Amino acid sequence: MTGDRFRFPKVEFGPEERALREEVRDFIREERASGGFTPMADSWGSGWSPEWSRKMGARGWLGMMWPKQYGGGEKPALHRYIVTEEMVSAGAPCAAHWVADRQSGPLLLRYGAEEQRRSILPRIAAGECYFAIGMSEPDSGSDLASVRTTATKVDGGWTINGRKIWSSGAHRSHYMIALVRTSPRDMKARHAGLTQFLIDLKAPGIEIRGIRNIAGERHFNETVFDDAFVPDDMVIGEAGDGWRQVTSELAIERSGPERFLSTFPVLTELVRELGPEPGERDAETVGALAARTMALRRMSLGISRLLDEGEAPEVAAALVKDLGTCFEGELVREARNLLPATAASQSPDLYGKVLADGVLHVPSSTIRGGTNEVLKGIVARELGLR
Ligand SMILES: Cc1cc2nc3c(=O)[nH]c(=O)nc-3n(C[C@H](O)[C@H](O)[C@H](O)COP(=O)(O)OP(=O)(O)OC[C@H]3O[C@@H](n4cnc5c(N)ncnc54)[C@H](O)[C@@H]3O)c2cc1C
Repeated sequence: MTGDRFRFPKVEFGPEERALREEVRDFIREERASGGFTPMADSWGSGWSPEWSRKMGARGWLGMMWPKQYGGGEKPALHRYIVTEEMVSAGAPCAAHWVADRQSGPLLLRYGAEEQRRSILPRIAAGECYFAIGMSEPDSGSDLASVRTTATKVDGGWTINGRKIWSSGAHRSHYMIALVRTSPRDMKARHAGLTQFLIDLKAPGIEIRGIRNIAGERHFNETVFDDAFVPDDMVIGEAGDGWRQVTSELAIERSGPERFLSTFPVLTELVRELGPEPGERDAETVGALAARTMALRRMSLGISRLLDEGEAPEVAAALVKDLGTCFEGELVREARNLLPATAASQSPDLYGKVLADGVLHVPSSTIRGGTNEVLKGIVARELGLR
């Protein structure tokens, strides 16, 4: 039923959640005051700080929902939501642990072997172990089922050959979870024969070549596998079941606060610049941006609740990511129109700095994690339009 797939149940915050939010805000305020970080847009994608990640780990803010035996806090998804939305909206540097905490850890918890969970999850929860995503290849992005990197069975493990591309942070990560072909491509069953591997990025036969983004940062990489050996115990879940496993990550990957709040620091600094008595047009624009933020937040929170209840709201998540990432770009454009500034990443003026971060990073928002055209296609199919 279409209506069911676009359900965004209301979420209420109780005293425990409000106390957690205050604790996170106090921490962020103190860190800001002591020079612990300077706000940036796209902080969850580009703000790489192992020190920050370790501080979050020490406070119990990573792996929050995982069982205690794996270093987790056994908290509801809503608690993780509060921590992440406070971090992203403050522009705090969360990139080092982001993929591991959001996606790789939960995947290992769900499909990983006991030894994988025991050895890795506590390190992620401590903010000391980082992950890269190895899905895209030079000729496989939106059409992920066409991946050509192969793993061939050998004694005691697998030999991997091929190339992954756009792997964010691979050069600074400990592991990659790669989607790899383990049996020949079958055009009648395109999603069969794929397997997820947990790959130690320091292993021989792996070369990680940097690719600079338009901000001049080495954000992503081409990762080349040349007869790289991966032991049997590094297969995640069942060999051949990779497609089902990889698609189960998508609702989590696409619906969080990072899909509409990446440029929120621009709005914060804009409001600060406009001061307590903005002009009428300024107030209208800021009000409209704030209202849209709240609508997106309501949708995103609704999905978080559904995930907590064990549902897999992929279509609703696709809608949030499409609307949210378009909004991130519009926010930057509106701010620029309203209050032009000399945008520069090294600008001493914070508004100019976050504006520069925003301008340089929003083009990637609508591509990473699935392009908006493809997401619109998913939503259109659900509505019976295609
Ligand atoms: C900042 C950033 C970080 C990234 N990090 C990672 C990462 O860590 N790991 C990883 O594996 N990948 C990563 N990616 C890659 C990303 O997932 C892919 O770029 C994305 O899935 C699109 O694939 P593609 O680049 O091959 O483009 P293509 O799939 O070739 O698409 C090209 C164009 O065609 C359109 N198109 C394609 N198919 C359809 C269709 N069916 N209907 C309508 N339009 C369509 C697309 O929307 C796009 O405009 C990252 C990308 C960016 C920008």
